[in-house]
Amino acid sequence: MRQYEKTGILSAKDLQIPSEKQLEKGVAILECVQEIPCNPCVESCPVHAISMKDINAPPVNDFEKCIGCTKCVGICPGLAIFVVKVAGKKAWVTLPYEFVPTPQIGDSVKALDRTGAIQTNALVKKVIKQGKTMVITIEIDSDLAMDIRNIKV
Ligand code: SF4
Ligand code: SF4
Repeated sequence: MRQYEKTGILSAKDLQIPSEKQLEKGVAILECVQEIPCNPCVESCPVHAISMKDINAPPVNDFEKCIGCTKCVGICPGLAIFVVKVAGKKAWVTLPYEFVPTPQIGDSVKALDRTGAIQTNALVKKVIKQGKTMVITIEIDSDLAMDIRNIKV
């Protein structure tokens, strides 16, 4: 049994990890490992980067095709997709957010890891609405790019 099956918390070793070069252009990390019949992420991608062997299989992102457009982030009912972009010591994580109040551009928020622990402060850089989900881009230090997956406003 894998660790996340006991804890419900994924770690980087459970995921497809992009190369440094792919992170520099910005790519979607699909934190979806369950075998469930779901595929809006596949349908949402304008460049057909996301694929599945079948409707129950976990999605796979072709990081070479992915252009980091963030269209898949708000569409995922499991809130399991994050776009990560890194440039030098800075990183930008785009994440789905469904709590209120909605953060505003320029706000300072707490950045949380996958366990919900506060790791650092983050600056809100972009806020867009995708259906009922807000899609928020935050700026953090690049060494936390693959760890920060939520915010506390
Ligand atoms: S970020 Fe855009 S290009 Fe990349 S997988 Fe998502 S929808 Fe496709
Ligand atoms: S939409 Fe979300 S939950 Fe559904 S398969 Fe894609 S990543 Fe997984």
